[in-house]
Amino acid sequence: MLERLGERYEEPRWAGERLDPVSELVLTVLAQNTADVNSHRAFLLLRERYPTWQQVLAAPTDELTDVIRPGGLAPTKAPRIQQVLAEIHDARGDFGLSFLRKLPVEEAREWLTALPGIGRKTASIVLMFCFGMPSLPVDTHIFRVAHRLGLLPPKANLAKAHELLEEALEPDEMYPFHVEMIRHGRDTCRAPRPICALCPLTDICDYYTLVLKGKAPVAPPPREPVGERPPRYHDELIHGWAPPE
Ligand code: SF4
Repeated sequence: MLERLGERYEEPRWAGERLDPVSELVLTVLAQNTADVNSHRAFLLLRERYPTWQQVLAAPTDELTDVIRPGGLAPTKAPRIQQVLAEIHDARGDFGLSFLRKLPVEEAREWLTALPGIGRKTASIVLMFCFGMPSLPVDTHIFRVAHRLGLLPPKANLAKAHELLEEALEPDEMYPFHVEMIRHGRDTCRAPRPICALCPLTDICDYYTLVLKGKAPVAPPPREPVGERPPRYHDELIHGWAPPE
């Protein structure tokens, strides 16, 4: 499966840190329940207004809320960002998170998920994208595609999906799996109806078995060729292009 998706999605490989870890963490908080383009904008506005993390921490929360408002859910995210920064600073004396790279993956993940509002997915994004650690973030696309393929039991929730998929993958498979499944979920195995006619996985897919029996819906192939749509911001990030300054 990874081989076939790799062929389709340019064999993604982790190519080193795209942002420093605390920037990655703040960007991921800004991205929670928000389109990538909005969180990117909010992140750039935040960095422009406050060049240092100390300034973000010291800013009046109302003011920070206004600055990141284009990112959505600003009244929740502004205090969360300040709480996270305060806890990192209290624990470490600065805002550096590079020490995590030397910890076993479980320990590093526990350290991050002990921060306020930081769940397993956010922690795994930091560990995978900053340090190349084998910690798999499962987002809505991966969750949907994995269920359709039959990689997860029907009742597995998101927490269980993180556990089961990590168990099933070798450490060096996690990054390509993450990127390929997100791209597949966006390009082909879309919600609510997948474009199975474009998929290289029909012969190993549980959902497609239902499609053949007329028990599950599919979407027709789009008129616009899939490969010619411009890359989205998240695609740029996961391929290491044009990170925010
Ligand atoms: S065959 Fe259809 S449902 Fe299955 S992975 Fe491919 S696009 Fe998704």
